[in-house]
Amino acid sequence: MRPALLLLLAVVTLIAAQEAARREPEQRAGRGRGKGWKRSRAIDKAHAFSNLRRFGKGSRQIRTEDWKEHADQFCSLFPHHGKCKDGARPKQGDLSNILKAVERRQNRRRVPRMKKRDWLEGVPESLRERSKDRAKSFGRFNKEWRNLFKNSCKSGKVDCRSQPKEAAEKRRILRDELAKVEREELKVDDETADDNVEIRFDRTLRIKRALLEKANLTAEVDPIDDGIFEQDILLTEVQSNMILNDLDKAETTGDEDLSPDEDDEVPKAPTDAPSDPTPAAAAETSAAPAAPTESAAPAADSSSSSSDSSSTESKEVGSNPVSTPPPSVDGQPTEATEGTRKKRSGVFLEQNFAEKWDISSPIPYTFDSSIAPWDKTDVHDALDEISRVSCVRFRELSSAPNFAHINFVKIDSPTFCGLSYVGRVAPVNTVYLSFQCGKNVGVVVHEVMHALGIIHQHLRVDRDQFIKVDWSNVNPQKYDQFATADQSLYTSYGIKYSYDSIMHYNAYTNAVDTRKPTMIPLVNSASNLALLGQRDRMSPTDINLINKMYCKPASCSDTNIYCGHWALTGTCTLQGNSVWMSQNCRKSCNLC
Ligand SMILES: [Zn+2]
Repeated sequence: MRPALLLLLAVVTLIAAQEAARREPEQRAGRGRGKGWKRSRAIDKAHAFSNLRRFGKGSRQIRTEDWKEHADQFCSLFPHHGKCKDGARPKQGDLSNILKAVERRQNRRRVPRMKKRDWLEGVPESLRERSKDRAKSFGRFNKEWRNLFKNSCKSGKVDCRSQPKEAAEKRRILRDELAKVEREELKVDDETADDNVEIRFDRTLRIKRALLEKANLTAEVDPIDDGIFEQDILLTEVQSNMILNDLDKAETTGDEDLSPDEDDEVPKAPTDAPSDPTPAAAAETSAAPAAPTESAAPAADSSSSSSDSSSTESKEVGSNPVSTPPPSVDGQPTEATEGTRKKRSGVFLEQNFAEKWDISSPIPYTFDSSIAPWDKTDVHDALDEISRVSCVRFRELSSAPNFAHINFVKIDSPTFCGLSYVGRVAPVNTVYLSFQCGKNVGVVVHEVMHALGIIHQHLRVDRDQFIKVDWSNVNPQKYDQFATADQSLYTSYGIKYSYDSIMHYNAYTNAVDTRKPTMIPLVNSASNLALLGQRDRMSPTDINLINKMYCKPASCSDTNIYCGHWALTGTCTLQGNSVWMSQNCRKSCNLC
């Protein structure tokens, strides 16, 4: 009996891994999960699989009471599994069926190793020196900050180990929403939809844990498991994999050529002609001589007016035969490299982290039926604001096309303001909005800027030169909202940090003591503090950024992700570098 029970418990181990993967054993103990959870901890993954297979082949029976417990746990993680539907509970005879579901998800949990370009290879030595440390700066955390976090946990100011109720609620709402998109847009069955969503949640959680691990805080802090990164960002599986690779968390061995083309769970849109997919934002250091001076005017207006409602002519938007010459970084011709099956156009990154939209036609968007007419007005106003200051145009469609588009969905819950993916995600970028946070138009602009590929201002790598983070007042469980971004994935295009960016969070974000700010501007503290998190309008730098990103001719480009950083540190005009910079960092040096 005992071995049989142990074998069955292994099922639970695997399932438990979805929720409790990286926790220290001593943490999981005593959390009221039931004895099965505690006992199963000892079984490692490989052992569990081998036991499961053996058990699946055998004919041992297990006590009904025990089976019920495990079956219920299974159903809580696989609610749409055929054997769990409508409140049903799998029977012991369903074990092999259950094992398949567990094994499928387990297999997909491995993070593939991905090839990534070394941006410092082949650049002049003096420039390489300037970026050497930055290339490794992602997730860097110092001792002083760590101690402040530890104090917050120890003192009981924050229960750094428990999941707040709100997080579970958010996770549940979001899981249902995302699974719905999987079913409706990707036409997958319920089980696959659940799997896809859980895998992504798992990846997001792993990133948060990896960041804490790098900060040496694993023993003290469990991150919030709500499926969301940085408070309002949704990551695709491929994006998560890239970040996990940068955090040295790839699990499969050898070089798996896992380009997003093959592995992305979403189909590609028919039109695919972005020219430089650099998500904007992070990076930079010191004084920036190359501060942008462009006006808000679109530099390369690409087409008609926005919000041209009601068209469903998918051809009009989707079949535009703009064949952009194969990409570049930002311009550099893309050749098929060895081992790469098919290169995407517009590859700033070897595998795009966030893709730019093809704006040779207006970006199509749709409204979910959950959006009320008055909410639509807010969205229209937001899209108009972006179009007014850039070449980016939008076109409303009355029904979902089968190519990349934005779909606005209302989540009627005060636990959200907005949620978005970073960059274009085919076939649909869902932007979730609650319309319950005030400044609705500004919130929509913020989320749509994410969808266009732009990340948070306060997570730029040069952030600490402009704001002081009061780590003693930051909730350690939400560290991902303060960890500076991966500089090898983003560029600032040489645009200076700005306090009034619509992509900045407010000064009290995730404060433990909500009367005290978590972010304090280092320059003109009082007046700039009031600007942080403003959602009234796009700042001049936001406007500059979107124009640099989307509205320059193809010949106006950077060939290196670090161009923005170099530009901000004065190398555009620096003797010895200026020639190379003028050839390779034309966009960031404002030479075009
Ligand atoms: Zn955001």
